[in-house]
Amino acid sequence: MDNAEFIKTKLIEAGFTEVGEINISDLVFDRSIRTICEDNGCHGYGRSWACPPAVGTLEECRERCEKYDRMFLINKKFNLKDKFDFKGMGQAMRDFKRNEDIFDDLMDGAGINYLLLGNEGCGRCEECTWPDAPCRFPKRLHHSLEGYGFDIGRMAKLSGIHYNSGPDTVTFLGAVLFDETIKESIR
Ligand code: SF4
Repeated sequence: MDNAEFIKTKLIEAGFTEVGEINISDLVFDRSIRTICEDNGCHGYGRSWACPPAVGTLEECRERCEKYDRMFLINKKFNLKDKFDFKGMGQAMRDFKRNEDIFDDLMDGAGINYLLLGNEGCGRCEECTWPDAPCRFPKRLHHSLEGYGFDIGRMAKLSGIHYNSGPDTVTFLGAVLFDETIKESIR
């Protein structure tokens, strides 16, 4: 099994719903998306190591991504009681992050270089150490897709997976960048 097949298998095993591929050369590190972060619409800006400015400039995000050979975009659909089910949305976000942790555990020891990006910020700790001390759980730190300037709707379309799964559902997205062959660690 090659690295791509192995990773795809582990993503499904970890509980993600769909896996699509996007060419790293098609990524757009969009300044206008980063500006939305800076305007703090989701209240994540400057609050953790997972969001800007801690993730670096857009150019640094590009350099980080371009170290890898391939990229999968992933999602998970969660059912809600209705569109006002904010409690369900919060639980879905926590569940999505738990799926990411399960994936990391499944990849442990596989020897494959990869970078897992997640939906929005971190929120693992009651109070983040940013910016005064290093992240408490660097191996569990998944940068925000939005923080890299990615238009997630556009990416979902390019990779052929759902961005929106219909009424009374919420869909969260993430991404895995990885090497096709086993190389020395570049993380
Ligand atoms: S794991 Fe904790 S310290 Fe690290 S980014 Fe998340 S909230 Fe901050």
